[in-house]
Amino acid sequence: MTQYRLFALTALLLAAGLGTVAANPLFCPELPSGAQIRPENRYFDVLPRIVPANQESVIEIVPLFDHVSLDEDCAYLLTYAPMEYPSRQGGWEPGTQLPIAPENGRFRITAFFEAEQEHTLIIEATCGDEKRTLGNFRVYSVEEDLYGLRPYKGDFHMHTHRSDGVESPAYVAGACRRVGLHFMAVSDHRWYDGSLEAQRAFADAPVDLRIYPAEEVHTPDNPIHIVSFGANEGITELYRDDETDYRAEVDALMESLPPTPDDVDRFHYAACVWAVERIRERDGLAMLAHPYWITRNRHNVEEPLLDYFFEQETFDALELISGFGIESLHRMDVNALQVARYLEERAKGRRIAVCGISDTHGHERSDAFGRYYTVVFAPSLELPDLLAGIQELRSVAVEAPAGVLPRAYGPFRYVKYTQFLIREVFPQHDELCFEEGRLMIQYASGDDSALERLRQLQEQTDRLYERYWTPAAE
Ligand SMILES: [Zn+2]
Ligand SMILES: [Zn+2]
Repeated sequence: MTQYRLFALTALLLAAGLGTVAANPLFCPELPSGAQIRPENRYFDVLPRIVPANQESVIEIVPLFDHVSLDEDCAYLLTYAPMEYPSRQGGWEPGTQLPIAPENGRFRITAFFEAEQEHTLIIEATCGDEKRTLGNFRVYSVEEDLYGLRPYKGDFHMHTHRSDGVESPAYVAGACRRVGLHFMAVSDHRWYDGSLEAQRAFADAPVDLRIYPAEEVHTPDNPIHIVSFGANEGITELYRDDETDYRAEVDALMESLPPTPDDVDRFHYAACVWAVERIRERDGLAMLAHPYWITRNRHNVEEPLLDYFFEQETFDALELISGFGIESLHRMDVNALQVARYLEERAKGRRIAVCGISDTHGHERSDAFGRYYTVVFAPSLELPDLLAGIQELRSVAVEAPAGVLPRAYGPFRYVKYTQFLIREVFPQHDELCFEEGRLMIQYASGDDSALERLRQLQEQTDRLYERYWTPAAE
């Protein structure tokens, strides 16, 4: 066993009874986010789940119920597989099985987790004549820079009854927590205050969901939709009552901006630059919304202008995946075009920050809500950290419509990690959020009795993350 430095195992036997785990995840109930908790992750704690790459870590696999408790009369075998990279320093050979024994009713597995990748630990039990798989446990190792960050799920393009949506901002915020989001922003058409209304509704309530300001900006005579996320003031206010300054400033930009290609509408371009500048001045992020959305039988943004946007890197971020009107997505896969375009532009070496959003207009009736979101890798949930995470290309766009595998899009490193998180971390997180969201909606309806329960639940999701990232005690 010494030749396998990979698994320095401590041996002790305890406990009784043996359970097995159903292999088919389709039998697991689905959360409103579409996530499913794998049986292994329900029956066992696997701690930590995220470890630093290229060093030795201890993983504890702890049965939580009698039906999976470990039996000293059984023999256990561990099969280990790193997903992508060979285990050079760990000395693991593919196909190797190692005997392991429980200690105090749990397994403690010491292993060298090489490179940034997912690791599979399969434990099989032989009890008398019976052989069973106890579980297929997953751990992810990350390089130092990423180890210090946490994945945060958010959606900041959605509508309420303050524009053309259905529900009130407070309701929508509660619904966001119910589907497992860490942060959200209402972005009503031409109406910044809807997002503030959502903030105000929970200003005195003990909630962990971060509610930020946003607005969908439509500047006069300009067809391009721009989501202003996180700006400390509204943009529409600048011309709602009087367009004189707006028009003068856009005219001035048309004079001063470098020449545009002939087929680019110079006014549309200048109006977008104007909006982006105003958003940035207010510390917000300017996101180009749904360029390939089809309206009046045409794409929202004319191709020459879109080409020019990419060339000039006009916006801070691109809405890569949109959940808007799932019915229209069935007719025309706008997201596939946005992704194809993104990949082509990235191949030209362009920097493009990406977001996934739902653009829902009624959360109870939408199949897209909670299933189209952005994952940002950031040191905290504070707005500047989230905005920096997106702008520094540490985000991915996710779509997880009912009945198909969730898909993440963006930089390879983060897509790979997100695939693990969607399977192994977010489901447990989403389940905790469900009750919080339900209580937020109850509170939004005027029932203050929800506050006490919300207070009890406060920081439960932080504690989950802490457990998943904290190294096991020596
Ligand atoms: Zn729009
Ligand atoms: Zn919208």
